[in-house]
Amino acid sequence: MPSPCAICNSPNSYSCASCYSAAYCSIECQQTDWPVHKTLCKIFKNFQSSTRTSSRSKLGLLLPVDSKTPRPVWVECELINDYEYEGDLPYEYSHVDSLLGTDKPFPERKSITRNIFRGFSLDHTVKVVCRETFLVDGSKKNICIEELTRGKMLHDWRGPIVILSEPGTAIDPRIYQDITLSDLRIAVDYFLTYGDYSIENLVAGARSVSLASRPGGAKVQGVRINCLGDQKVFGAKQYVAAAVPRDHPVFLSTPTGISTYMGPPLLMRKYPPHRAWKDDKNMRPYPYQNQAATFMNLNADVNSQEWGRAPLHWQNEVGSMMVVHKDGKDLTPHQVEALAYYCQFKLQPVFEDSIGAGSVQRTRKEVVSQFLTRNMFEEFFDIFKREQSDKSWLAETSPYVQ
Ligand SMILES: [Zn+2]
Ligand SMILES: [Zn+2]
Repeated sequence: MPSPCAICNSPNSYSCASCYSAAYCSIECQQTDWPVHKTLCKIFKNFQSSTRTSSRSKLGLLLPVDSKTPRPVWVECELINDYEYEGDLPYEYSHVDSLLGTDKPFPERKSITRNIFRGFSLDHTVKVVCRETFLVDGSKKNICIEELTRGKMLHDWRGPIVILSEPGTAIDPRIYQDITLSDLRIAVDYFLTYGDYSIENLVAGARSVSLASRPGGAKVQGVRINCLGDQKVFGAKQYVAAAVPRDHPVFLSTPTGISTYMGPPLLMRKYPPHRAWKDDKNMRPYPYQNQAATFMNLNADVNSQEWGRAPLHWQNEVGSMMVVHKDGKDLTPHQVEALAYYCQFKLQPVFEDSIGAGSVQRTRKEVVSQFLTRNMFEEFFDIFKREQSDKSWLAETSPYVQ
């Protein structure tokens, strides 16, 4: 059975096609993990498990104190047959000491059995091993954790850190298993919440409080606008709902110019092209074409030389596009379709007017004040809704109303 999704724990997941060491339920979850996953995907793809140093060594990850990139390490796990007490079972002792420093530091082992950041329990244990006294022994700030969390870790992690994996979630005695890149994500999410006492109280106390309401844990409904290639090859509809994790990289982008004036503020991001049509030079129509995406990205900065045009990034090799509300509010496919239609067939002509290419004389300021407004869009939306043959449109609410 494949592992559950590293981001949302959904059981219906596929493995990363490059390293096979992390699993995802969707491209949105895969893209969310990518900033962390990319640090090791290639290294794990080329990693030879034949380099295992002994039959008792298990793969772990070293988060070096002075390097941005984590490193796979073989950790010797010694089987301890210590029948001091009746009923004692053999267990494995992981020899991480030398990885934590040359001064024989005492290792502190923290167990993770729940991803608090995303609100789900694990089916195994991830161990974070650090120097017990790292806060007071002169250890330097851990650059690797700072990089992996984009500086958002809450605790002052210092010194080298080793991550290990154990099957199951029982208390000791334990054995170890090779680490995966899904475990790296679990560790990074742990660094994002460790030290946040409001979350710890939430987990310990009010079980009824939905952890899905955690900003990092929830998914929001965005919309995928499929390009012609995805529509043609997969028979996909042009506008489909997409579940997007709240920490997907799309949320780091800037709202489009049009949506900044008009609202709601929209963030957009290209999906990678699918290999089924990516390199097909003969496919007609042009598979990357996505006019809705292009027109939603027209430049609306009255002081810009590029006014009324889409940046090259949104003209060439566009492909399918994700649209989300900046504040994480849900968007429906119908709402985004109406917004796209408004950009392409109502706004584009008045942009043309303002550069002297249309039938009417308009200034840029007039375009902004008369057309890039909520009123104007909602007036259009009311009519547009009623013109659609599909009756599901009648119940559709304006994207401003949530
Ligand atoms: Zn997922
Ligand atoms: Zn990978």
